[in-house]
Amino acid sequence: MTELTNLKVAEIRDGHRAGDFSAVEVAEAFSANVAAAKALNAFIVETPEHALAAAKAADADRAAGTLKPLSGVPIGMKDLFCTDGVQTTAASHMLEGFVPRYESTVSAKLWDAGCGMLGKLNLDQFAMGSSNETSYFGNVISPWKRKDGGNAALAPGGSSGGSSSAIAARLCPAATGTDTGGSIRQPAAFTGISGIKPTYGRCSRWGIVAFASSLDQAGPMARDVKDCAIMLETMAGFDPKDATSLNMAVPNWEAALSSDLKGKKVGIPKEYRLEGIDLDIDAMWDVGIAMLKDAGAEVVEISLPHTKYALPAYYIIAPAEASSNLARYDGVRYGLRDLPDGAGLQDMYAATRADGFGPEVKRRIMIGTYVLSAGFYDAYYTQAQKVRTLIARDFEAAFGACDVILTPTAPSAAFGLGEKMADPLAMYLNDVFAVPASLAGLPAMSVPAALNREGLPLGLQIIGKAFDEQGVLNAGLAIEERAGFTARAEKWW
Ligand code: GLN
Repeated sequence: MTELTNLKVAEIRDGHRAGDFSAVEVAEAFSANVAAAKALNAFIVETPEHALAAAKAADADRAAGTLKPLSGVPIGMKDLFCTDGVQTTAASHMLEGFVPRYESTVSAKLWDAGCGMLGKLNLDQFAMGSSNETSYFGNVISPWKRKDGGNAALAPGGSSGGSSSAIAARLCPAATGTDTGGSIRQPAAFTGISGIKPTYGRCSRWGIVAFASSLDQAGPMARDVKDCAIMLETMAGFDPKDATSLNMAVPNWEAALSSDLKGKKVGIPKEYRLEGIDLDIDAMWDVGIAMLKDAGAEVVEISLPHTKYALPAYYIIAPAEASSNLARYDGVRYGLRDLPDGAGLQDMYAATRADGFGPEVKRRIMIGTYVLSAGFYDAYYTQAQKVRTLIARDFEAAFGACDVILTPTAPSAAFGLGEKMADPLAMYLNDVFAVPASLAGLPAMSVPAALNREGLPLGLQIIGKAFDEQGVLNAGLAIEERAGFTARAEKWW
């Protein structure tokens, strides 16, 4: 039998159901991998006891004939989801030691479906970053290495870098991610796995530490498209506790998976052909186009003329919302409190926030406060909101001519740790292809498509119409079947 930790979500679910192995064996195998992979720093907290308890329940449920949809499947939980009784930090010193007394809606749905938790996954601090280097708990390391042997430690992408690294290294078969401006898709691309950000509102934001509320969306990361469909079905659904939650039935995405794209049109946005982009990325994009044609789709050129304004608009809107959301960390309500001797209330606020937030978070709070300030609100924030509307209209017009849009996920393969930290703008550029769909609230996914010349994974992004996760998943499946991406990182950790 294949090593249990090589099994995907569907294989674990079905194999457990068929009695091929026990859920306890699966949980123990993954927990052993987690314990042996400290060098990757993918987890902030390990919870083998949680995974084991769920596994025992799954085995008992099988004996009793009361299996749940995901009985026996252990997963990783991004440490941005509040988990009852388990420390939740958002990878910040500000929340170190914070143990919620409630469970996020998304994680609760996963536990109700029978999943167990292997641990809380590392991330960029408050999900701000593209390389997982802004975590207070140290950066995550990608299991991948460049082929030239140069032993440089590579970034797993961000902000869901713990999730991507852990899945690529077989520490868990799937994990939750969150995506505000690419944080599911870019790390998936960097590590050769799949991930989908659903339509804004599909997954409840309740109990997820807020970054930029009009953009934040939870979604699954896993090894293939089918596993993403299965996980998303469990995570999605209306939640009266989130005012922006979509009150729509969750389709059975897994059952309707089909890679036959006859009659479908795939749009190729001409504005995404960036000057100076990595040749491998452009070549992979062309191969992706050929794959979708092969699956029966018709390919059409489309225009998304406001693309070039998406990144600047995002880096105004996201910090603006973050500065407001993060005002709650004042030393009174959650987590850290720094109270110097003889300090008054203002001193406590200042000391706590100076100590608790990392440099990137402070940068965002300052930018956000500035663009929302009375003198600059119209010049920056209002403008950015107008641009956001134009970007959404670009997509609406484009979807008059096509069903899904194909683009690269990121402008490069994984870069080395430390390579971009000194230059925030170079770091922000990572999100250039991911951010437009976030601003428009559209479903988008990354699937692994190829290895570049250095032997590193590259991902293709599929963007769909609002609520059409099925169209996105199906196009992703068509690429997956043709790319035959089976490469994995050689074990060194
Ligand atoms: N990298 C982007 C940022 O730093 C996106 C982060 C995210 O999607 N959470 O804001």
